[in-house]
Amino acid sequence: MRIYSTLTRQKEEFIPVHEGEVRIYACGPTVYNYFHIGNARPFVVFDTLRRYLESRGYRVIYVQNFTDVDDKMIKRAREEGISVPRLAERFIAEYFKDADGLGIRRATVHPRATEHIGDIIRLIETLIEKSHAYVSESDVYFDTQSFPAYGKLSGQDLAELEAGARVEPGEKKRHPMDFVLWKAQKQQDEIAWDSPWGKGRPGWHIECSAMSMKYLGDTIDIHTGGQDLIFPHHENEIAQSESATGKQFVKYWMHNGFLNVESKKMSKSEGNFFTVREVAEEFDLEAVRLFLLSAHYRSPINFSHKLMEQSESALQRIKNSLENLSYIAREGKTGAITDEETALSAMMETQKKAFFEAMDDDLNTADALGAMFEAVREANTVLSGGGTRTAAAKALEILDAMLAVLGLLQGAREEGFPAEVAGLVEKRQQARKEKDFAEADRIREELKTMGIILEDTPQGVKIKKM
Ligand code: AMP
Ligand code: ZN
Repeated sequence: MRIYSTLTRQKEEFIPVHEGEVRIYACGPTVYNYFHIGNARPFVVFDTLRRYLESRGYRVIYVQNFTDVDDKMIKRAREEGISVPRLAERFIAEYFKDADGLGIRRATVHPRATEHIGDIIRLIETLIEKSHAYVSESDVYFDTQSFPAYGKLSGQDLAELEAGARVEPGEKKRHPMDFVLWKAQKQQDEIAWDSPWGKGRPGWHIECSAMSMKYLGDTIDIHTGGQDLIFPHHENEIAQSESATGKQFVKYWMHNGFLNVESKKMSKSEGNFFTVREVAEEFDLEAVRLFLLSAHYRSPINFSHKLMEQSESALQRIKNSLENLSYIAREGKTGAITDEETALSAMMETQKKAFFEAMDDDLNTADALGAMFEAVREANTVLSGGGTRTAAAKALEILDAMLAVLGLLQGAREEGFPAEVAGLVEKRQQARKEKDFAEADRIREELKTMGIILEDTPQGVKIKKM
């Protein structure tokens, strides 16, 4: 696979540090609110990277953190009159609900900053011992002058950066680009931990260095996040980690482009955002996932109502095709596959190959989706009027291989149910949405004859074997 790394500004052949294994650290959400669909982009894109690497036979260790203490967390907790840990608990649970809807799998580990205060303090102590950090009153700062490579990720040099920066009032640092590792407690009631420098809490950047090194080792394969994290967050992570270990921190840096609204970055501070929760009221979250994968991850993507509607109908096209193929695979003609069907299989195999080649080329999901829709179209052309069971099963298998990598329409499948069950469950959901309860009940009965029972819960439909 070839991956574009922000560090070298070119596509590079991917060679893992440990053979057969890929270690990924993905910067996760700050859990003070519901996340918006701009935030959903890296979560979906890099979940797809993980699925793709797994499909290539790698064992992937995927770590995605929760930032559960920072200024925004403290402010919001105060507004709500609850503690910071309670606020975090609440929005971590909400994160998982939305992530489930978007088909984002659980990471191997979801570490939280507040559960790693000991690791963070030890890392800061190492940096102080090695003269890369200094204590200033009760804060601790990283000394950027001590790390000559500072600026290498964002392609700026320190002198240039310093020219544009200034020390804000109240900051007690030596140089304008120095950044905080440990913040002293400001008010008595503010959340804080004991440390060698007095009561306080970690800065944001240090948590990712500490947790990445703890779970994945000193040198990891891939570190991900949105382009806004390149500077200063990831630049600072490199400075801290490489100063502490003397080793390269990350081999490949992957950054996604922004999701925009009317060509402006969607962000909480701009107020031009839609939470995933809001979007889910109107659109199927699987269609949101499809939409987020419809552009190359490094390109900007524009969010609009119209594009979401198009994405829903594209998703529906896949569902219809799967449903038709499942039906033929079950009820179609028995006996030998026809010449036309043999040709179809070959054509679809060619699309599958194109799909994997596109994914291999820096995760080009846009081209990969193109190949998948072409395969859907080919299957429809030959099999929409019926066909042999063998041909339909083969077509399903090919589509399934691509859908699994994209993490689309996997709900029932991940639990080990056949593709047709997922198709029927989707169809029933649609019927319920349209208030066609007779049809919904009919599908429930049909599933029952296949030994599947459905339970409607507030979190969605649970599928069980009888
Ligand atoms: P935050 O919770 O703000 O730290 O953001 C979580 C992730 O979302 C980070 O990887 C950000 O870079 C990313 N992100 C934030 N806004 C956008 C956006 N409009 N488009 C794409 N990614 C974004
Ligand atoms: Zn981070």
